[in-house]
Amino acid sequence: MRKSLDIINQVMGSETKEGIKMSTDQCPHCGGYCLPPLRRSFLGPLTSAPCRSCGERVSVPGWSVFTVAPIIIAVAVVPNYTTDPHLVAMSAVLLSMLTSLLNDTFVPLVKSKN
Ligand SMILES: [Zn+2]
Repeated sequence: MRKSLDIINQVMGSETKEGIKMSTDQCPHCGGYCLPPLRRSFLGPLTSAPCRSCGERVSVPGWSVFTVAPIIIAVAVVPNYTTDPHLVAMSAVLLSMLTSLLNDTFVPLVKSKN
């Protein structure tokens, strides 16, 4: 997953002016490596986690809730169009992966207020 995101970052040219790759897992406090990918995936705007490097608490911005839209589609919309349980399960997996990708790609870590 990380590898493909690096490629996406390169293709989209999402680099800072200093030429350093913008990382969505950089700590907003210390700039270091913050959270393992799985822990980060479960981070919501109302939750926070301690940074692995400095111990300060980090969270994600409120607008990041939009990244769960694919999961809502999987649960609420897909079953209306098909009754095939394999298709429903497959779309749930694919749409969950999309949510994870959106999170990793677009949602930055922010200093937690709680
Ligand atoms: Zn930190």
